[in-house]
Amino acid sequence: MRTVAFKTFGCRLNQAETVAFERAFAEAGISRVRLGEPADVVVVHACAVTQSAENACLHELRVLRRRLPDARVVLSGCVAEAVARERVLAAGADLVVDRAWREALVQRVLEKWPELAVGLPGCVPAVPVSKRRSKRALLKVQDGCDFFCTYCIVPHTRGRPVSRPLEVCVREAATMIAAGYHEIVVTGCNIACYADGSRGLIDLLAALAALPGLGRLRLGSIEPGTIEGAVADWMAGAEKLCKFLHLPIQSGDDDVLARMGRRYTADQVIDTVRRARARMPDAAFGADLICGFPGESADAFERTLRVVADLGFSNLHVFPYSERPGTPACAYDGRVPVTERRQRAKRLIAQGDAQREAFAHRFAGRRAEVLVERFDREGRACGWSGEYLPCAVTGVPRDRLGALCAFTVECVSGVTLEGNAEHAER
Ligand code: SF4
Repeated sequence: MRTVAFKTFGCRLNQAETVAFERAFAEAGISRVRLGEPADVVVVHACAVTQSAENACLHELRVLRRRLPDARVVLSGCVAEAVARERVLAAGADLVVDRAWREALVQRVLEKWPELAVGLPGCVPAVPVSKRRSKRALLKVQDGCDFFCTYCIVPHTRGRPVSRPLEVCVREAATMIAAGYHEIVVTGCNIACYADGSRGLIDLLAALAALPGLGRLRLGSIEPGTIEGAVADWMAGAEKLCKFLHLPIQSGDDDVLARMGRRYTADQVIDTVRRARARMPDAAFGADLICGFPGESADAFERTLRVVADLGFSNLHVFPYSERPGTPACAYDGRVPVTERRQRAKRLIAQGDAQREAFAHRFAGRRAEVLVERFDREGRACGWSGEYLPCAVTGVPRDRLGALCAFTVECVSGVTLEGNAEHAER
C-alpha cells in the first residue's frame, strides 16, 4: 500500500485544500497515514502570511528530512510562491508545487515519482464520520484576492479571485452531508468576492442552506467594506447559518486603515456591528487585528483597543505586524519596534479574553447546540457552539460523535458552556 501524510499550516483554506489533496491521493490508490508514521509522500501545505508561519514551514521541512529520510517531501501553499526555491529545496523539499499546479498536485507527484502510481482511478475508500479527524467539512468556494492590502502577501501568492461554480459548490456540499457531516464551513481567500456570473455569496449561501439534511452552515471571515452588511442581514434570518460574524478589521484607527490600504473606516465597522447586533443580540462577533503596523502611534493603538471594547468582540485573532518582503508596507516609515508590537498584541489578547468570557456567561441557563467533535475522559461530548464557544456536555450517547446536539447551559466554566443533553429542550 502506498501512503501519504500531510502537515498543514495556516488558514481554513489550506485545510480545505489538504482535504482535496487527500481525496485525490485516495483516488490514485494512495492512503493517508498520520504524520510521523512511515509514508511514501509527505505534503507540507504551508502558509506565508507572517514571518513566523514561514519559519515554521522551513523548520518542519528540516525536521521531516531528518525523521523520514525516505519520504518524498512535497511543498505547496503560499510558501511555495513566497520563498526562494533554493531555500525550500535546501530545507528538505523534494518537489515544490506552485499555485499553477495546486489543483493537479497529485498529478505532479505521480509524474515525478511514477513508481507511486499503483492505484485504481476512482477507487475512493469510504471513511466513516467517526474515523475522520475533523467533524466539520470545509467547503472551498473561492480562491485568490485582488484587494492588495499593503501588508499582505496573499494576492501575490494566490493570485486573482477565482470562484467555483455555484452548482459545483452545492453538489460538493450535498456529498459532504451524505458522508455524515453536520456542519459545513464556507471558506475561501476572500469569500466576499464570490461570484458565479451575476450570483454572489448570498445566492450561494441560500442554495447551501436549502440543502436537505444540512445541520448548520458556518461562514469564514468577511472583509469589511464589501458585503458584510448584507451578509449580516441574511444571517439574521437564516436558521441554519451559525450566528458568528468574523470581520478582519485589522485596526480601529482610520489613518492606520488607510495606510494598510483597507477599504473602510472604523465608523463603518462600528455601524455594521451595531446594526447586526440589533438584529441578532446573541450573535458572536470576531475580528482579526494587526498590532504595530508601520505608523501605528500609541494613540492609534488605544483607539483600536476602544473599538474592540466598544464592539464586544468575543473572538480575536491578534497578530503582531510581520514584514512580508515585496509588499508596499515593508518600505513604510514609522516602523514600530518588535517588542512594542508584541506588547500591544498582549494587551489586545487580554482584552479579547476578558470579552470572550463575558460573552460566554451570557449563555448560562440558555439553550445551545454543540457539534460533537470528541468525548473527553469524563465521557462529556466536547465541541463548539454555533457562536464558537467550547462546550462540554454530559448525557450524549457515543454514537452522536460528529452530530449536532442541543443542550441547556447549566454553568459556564471560563468560556466553556457546560450542560446536560438530557435536560435540553427539544
Ligand atoms: S483582503 Fe487584503 S488582507 Fe485579505 S487576502 Fe486580500 S489583500 Fe490580503
